[in-house]
Formats: sequence, structure tokens, C-alpha cells
Amino acid sequence: MPAKKSPARPRELLFGDLWEFDPAPESAEPFIAPRYGLFIDDKFTAPKSRKYFDTIAPRNGAKLSEIALANAADVDAAYTAAAKAFPAWSKLPGKERGKYLFRIARLLQDRAREFAVAETLDGGKPIKESRDFDLPMAAAHFFYHAGWADKLEFVAPGRTLQPLGVVGQIIPWNFPLLMLAWKIAPALATGNTVVLKPAETTSITALKFATILQQAGLPPGVVNIVTGAGETGAAVVDHPLAAKIAFTGSTEVGKIIQRALAGSGKKLSLELGGKAANIVFEDAPLDQAVEGIVNGIFFNQGHVCCAGSRLLVQESVADLVVAKLKRRMQVLRVGDPLDKNTDIGAINSAEQLAKIKDLVASGVKEGAELHQPSCKLPAKGFYHAPTLFTKVSQSHRVAREEIFGPVLSVLTFRTPEEAIEKASNTPFGLSAGVWTDKGSKILKMAAELKAGVVWANTYNKFDPSSPFGGYKQSGFGREGGKHGLLDYAILK
Ligand code: NAP
Ligand code: MG
Repeated sequence: MPAKKSPARPRELLFGDLWEFDPAPESAEPFIAPRYGLFIDDKFTAPKSRKYFDTIAPRNGAKLSEIALANAADVDAAYTAAAKAFPAWSKLPGKERGKYLFRIARLLQDRAREFAVAETLDGGKPIKESRDFDLPMAAAHFFYHAGWADKLEFVAPGRTLQPLGVVGQIIPWNFPLLMLAWKIAPALATGNTVVLKPAETTSITALKFATILQQAGLPPGVVNIVTGAGETGAAVVDHPLAAKIAFTGSTEVGKIIQRALAGSGKKLSLELGGKAANIVFEDAPLDQAVEGIVNGIFFNQGHVCCAGSRLLVQESVADLVVAKLKRRMQVLRVGDPLDKNTDIGAINSAEQLAKIKDLVASGVKEGAELHQPSCKLPAKGFYHAPTLFTKVSQSHRVAREEIFGPVLSVLTFRTPEEAIEKASNTPFGLSAGVWTDKGSKILKMAAELKAGVVWANTYNKFDPSSPFGGYKQSGFGREGGKHGLLDYAILK
């Protein structure tokens, strides 16, 4: 998408001569190479496997680029480079490491438009989200951790933080660049070196990020990026040079990794799936709550680990809330993610779309009532209408399984105790939302809900200084804040 030039204007309209307006973000050039190698030791290199795979744009199925497929030998080369870089990087004064992180953060801001378009093309999320959320938050994580790099003695007063060594990091496709930032920024701030594997369907912004590392002059081998699918991920996990594995992804793969690492002595953090309850009490500001419910489940097409996918609404206001919700859903704009007006973009892949459809079909079969606004979906690409299920019982698959799509299940409750019981009736424990006018109720719910994050009268709010992570089958370890730093260090 080349930048659109403004049409020629009459001579008297001189503004264009004085100030060239930047193109709107949705028309910025994403600079996607036709083919990407692996990023090892500061260079893009051809994979030893000699294999490449296609990455496509979910908005229309078009091929965007070819991505190198790293095999075990490639992963080994990445670990070797990271191990070679570790002694010098870990000995660098924190202030110097911080300078690199500040540089990376500023370069991300400089190239935010280009990255936002690339993220939307490769992953399918609405441009307004990659532009206003993913990119600013990714830069914020580097800024935040840049600030910590020379202040590590204040993380745990009286103790010192020592880096672990080479860390292997594996991330999913729902927030490709942001998950990369969550992983790489704390690892570098604490003096570790990195081998990172992005998800198969969304490698482009990680590889473009490698060019930012080159621009920033990061020493060779400090960050290495190996692309590929599950087998490449397994090679990252199994490598003997890994001091720690940091994984974000599904609970199913998290369990495989935990089993693979048992007894190895490697440190592990797992950020896994969720099935969050968004709990609305009768005394809540209902219009505000409806906005929070919509944001909670339809943000990023519902491809959000902490999505508020189970709406628990107090029985006395259930009909009213559902009626308001249906009205609000009718005006959600579903379509081309590159359109800046789009609220719900493309589903990340054909496989994910099939999984969502399968779970929606199970909801209908098991007796829940389906509601979808009348909206026309684009003919090409992967799309799913925003979906609401009422008459849901706790045994339904749509109430138990993580759908990871724009599908909301509504359940009701009468008392706070019943809400807590229903909210906790899940193997997950990542997040929850509480909507009420009463501060005391918020405190009671937050104390009793077993969830890593509890939002009160808001939803999906993030900040690099606030630790994020789960309980139960949503994983362990925290990302962000001091807790996140501690997960990349040994306390002495
Ligand atoms: P996934 O299938 O578990 O994949 C996650 C990553 O692991 C991908 O890079 C994947 O590679 C790789 N992988 C697959 N099999 C592997 C194996 N055997 N060993 C090592 N790595 C392997 O999850 P996903 O479908 O990409 O992401 C969705 C899941 O992530 C959801 O469950 C969501 O809740 C969770 N998530 C959690 C958080 C959190 O902070 N708690 C944040 C975001 C997402 P390929 O994709 O290339 O095959
Ligand atoms: Mg893609």
C-alpha cells in the first residue's frame, strides 16, 4: 500500500507546500520483505533447513511473505549466538543496557505507523487497535524496563538481581509485537540474552523488530529470532543452553512444555488461557458496563487471553443488560481491519475460524440461544460475526472452554456468593471484571475471586508497571512490574 499523494491543489492553497501531511496510518507503507531469514547474531540468515513457509493476510487470504522455518540446528545456532553474547551483555552497567532499551522504545515510536499496518496485515486485528494499543503499549514496555535497568538494586531492597543466562521465549499470535515486548524488555533489562520464537501466523512484526535492533546497534547475539511452528518451539524448549523458558500460549501446549522441562532445572513461566467472568451487579452503571462488556469480549476479535467471555449478570437486570447489549452489538462494524472505522477485524487464521464455528455450533446444539446482529461479512478472508449466547448453563461448552473469538456467553446470578461460585467454576484463573456502584462489593469480590487481574468498573486496562499473570490452569509467573523482573533473575 504505497502512501497516497494528495491531489494537486490550486496555487492559493499553500498549506501543502509548507507542511506535508503524513499519510493516515491505514495507508502507511508497511515495508514487508518478500522473504525473511532467521535473525541470528545480528544478521538475517537463510535457514539450515532450507525451508520457508507462507504468511498470509487474514483480511483477504493474500500471501504477504515467506518466512524461514527454523529446525533444531538453526535453533542451536541462535542459542550459541545468545550464549556468546551473554557475558559481555550481563556485565554491561545497567545504565548502558537501559540506553539500548530507550533507543528501541523510541525507534518503535518512530516507526509506529509502519508497524501498525504490518501488524494488522499479518494478524487481522483492526488498525485502530494496532495503532492505538499494540504499538504504544509495546513502546511503553521498553520505556518502562529501560527505566529499571540501572535501578535493579531497588527491586528487592538488600538483595541483588542476577541474570539467568540465555532465555528461550515463545509467544502466540494474538498480540504479536506486544507479547514480544512483554518478553524481551524485562529479559534485557535484567541482563539476559534471548532466543525468541513468534507464532507461525504472525512472524512479520518480530522480524521487522529485528531491524529496529540493528538500528539501535544492539550487540550481536543479544536477541535472536527463530521462526517456525510448534516443532521449532519444541526445539527452543529442549535446548540445553536455555536457563529459562517463558511461554505464552494455550494451556494445552503449556502442559507439554511443563512436562518437557520437569527435572531439567530450567526456570519456567507460563501465561496461558482464560475464561474470565465479567460480573455485572444490579447497582452498576449499566450503560458503562455494556461498553465494558463489549470491549471485554470483542476487543481484538476476542483473541484475548483475559477476554471477558462469560458475562455473569444479576438476574434483576439481566433482561435489560441483554437488550442494551444487543442494541450495541448491532452497531459494531465488522470488516476489513485496514479500515480505520472497523471495530471487529479478521479472525487470525482459517483454523481459528473453524474452531470458533465449531464451538458456536456446540452452543446451539446444547440448547443455548444464539444472537448475532445482521451484518454482512466480507466475501474473502476470515470473519465471524459478534455472537451472544443467552440461556447458557454452566455445563455448556461455550461456558467452559476458551473460544478465543468474538463469542459471549451470558449466565445469571442472584447473590454475590453465587456470582463468586459461578465465576470460580473454571479451571482457569487469569482475569475477571466487576461492575457495581459499591466499593465494598468491589473489595469483597476482588479478594474472593481467584484471578490474576480483577478490573473494577472497567476492563482490559494494561500498564507495564502492573504485573499480569494467572492462577490455576492460566499459568504461573508474572509479566510487568517488579514481579515480572524477578521472573528473569536470581535473587542473591
Ligand atoms: P499455542 O498453540 O499454544 O501456541 C503458542 C506458541 O507456542 C506459538 O508460538 C506456537 O507455535 C508454539 N508452540 C506450539 N506447539 C509447541 C510445542 N509443542 N512446544 C513449544 N512451542 C509450541 O497458542 P496460540 O493458539 O498461538 O495462542 C492462543 C493461546 O494463548 C490462548 O489459549 C490464549 O489464552 C493464550 N494467551 C495467553 C496470554 C497470557 O498472558 N496468559 C496472552 C496471550 C495469549 P505456532 O503457533 O507457530 O504453531
Ligand atoms: Mg499472517
